[in-house]
Amino acid sequence: MLHRVTLIPGDGIGPEVVRAAKSCIEATGVDIRWDEVLAGQTALEKYGQLLPAETLDSIRQNKVALKGPIITPVGGGFRSVNVSLRQTLDLYVCLRPAKSYSTVKTLYKNIDLVIVRENTEDLYAGIEFEVGLPQTKKIIATIEKLTQKMILPDSGISIKPISKKASERIVRFAFEYATKFRRKKITAVHKANIMKFTDGLFLNIAREVSRNYPQIIFEDRIVDNMAMQLVQKPWDYDILVLPNLYGDIISDLCAGLVGGLGVMPGGNLGDQIGVFEAVHGAAPKYKGRNIVNPTAMILSGVLMLRYINEDKAAKKLEDAVIEVLKEGRSLTYDLKPSRDDPTAVGTQEMAEAIISKLK
Ligand code: NAD
Repeated sequence: MLHRVTLIPGDGIGPEVVRAAKSCIEATGVDIRWDEVLAGQTALEKYGQLLPAETLDSIRQNKVALKGPIITPVGGGFRSVNVSLRQTLDLYVCLRPAKSYSTVKTLYKNIDLVIVRENTEDLYAGIEFEVGLPQTKKIIATIEKLTQKMILPDSGISIKPISKKASERIVRFAFEYATKFRRKKITAVHKANIMKFTDGLFLNIAREVSRNYPQIIFEDRIVDNMAMQLVQKPWDYDILVLPNLYGDIISDLCAGLVGGLGVMPGGNLGDQIGVFEAVHGAAPKYKGRNIVNPTAMILSGVLMLRYINEDKAAKKLEDAVIEVLKEGRSLTYDLKPSRDDPTAVGTQEMAEAIISKLK
């Protein structure tokens, strides 16, 4: 079956890792027609826009995209392209499996966690008031009037909305995912003891939704305790469902457990659309040097193949990645025992080693 997929090379190391992932995906034999479009710095340079309408139209039409990391210029009032993309397309799920392929150099073995992060609200909603502006003074005055609590006048303010709707659908997604992939337990992560009306709401909704899935164990953890427990005994956990900010932080912690950002894939999913990307960013200092690890992007391709129901190709590609990791020869510097290991190979060479296992 022919699939049409939007391809966004991205910025910094994006084009290198996306090229590597694209060649690996094609080598599985799936029939994909790529529709290449721009977003981020490259789009700003070419079209004067960070997220051109053409890019959004392509994703809306194809319903699936493979995306490299994107740089949003700091200052100049630009809104994060990634946040805009997720909000505009209502990609409310950020799915990040953290699996240790026992061959990757790590302190931990046999980890198999899935992070389900809410993607559209919380402190990432982008509702912020800069210190000193008239509207900031107004919001401070309103809050003081309504709550009888003092806020220092030289404060900046960020708003944390957490809704019933967004909490319900993210928790439901986590339970549906657990059911589909026969996972056993879901842990809701929060700080409901302090933020009763936002995280408390999230927790209450999670408890309510969990009653519809009696076959799956449900529990909750306060986020600081969760961070400690993931370092002490990550094997006790299975699927974690979290509001946006904690999800962002805890997924990097989990990336650290399984070998670093170079190996952690991800997908941003809505009801109709899936945009797949590595957890890592654009690592600009490595741009164009052909040295970074393509694994996270290739494994994002594996998630994408499963999403378009190409399960056989997905398994083939994942197995090829595992084989190359197991052999331990054609690995980028970050997977070698020391960072200056002279036997480390380049991005493209690691991808070629993976492709050779697919033949
Ligand atoms: P980063 O993930 O780009 O880099 C942090 C460090 O992680 C790098 O210096 C490098 O040592 C390591 N690293 C990252 N990817 C690697 C890979 N594939 N192989 C080996 N090592 C790797 O994070 P950052 O420095 O905070 O962000 C750089 C830029 O990327 C910023 O502009 C940021 O906004 C953007 N960013 C984009 C996304 C996205 O598009 N989804 C995500 C995170 C950051």
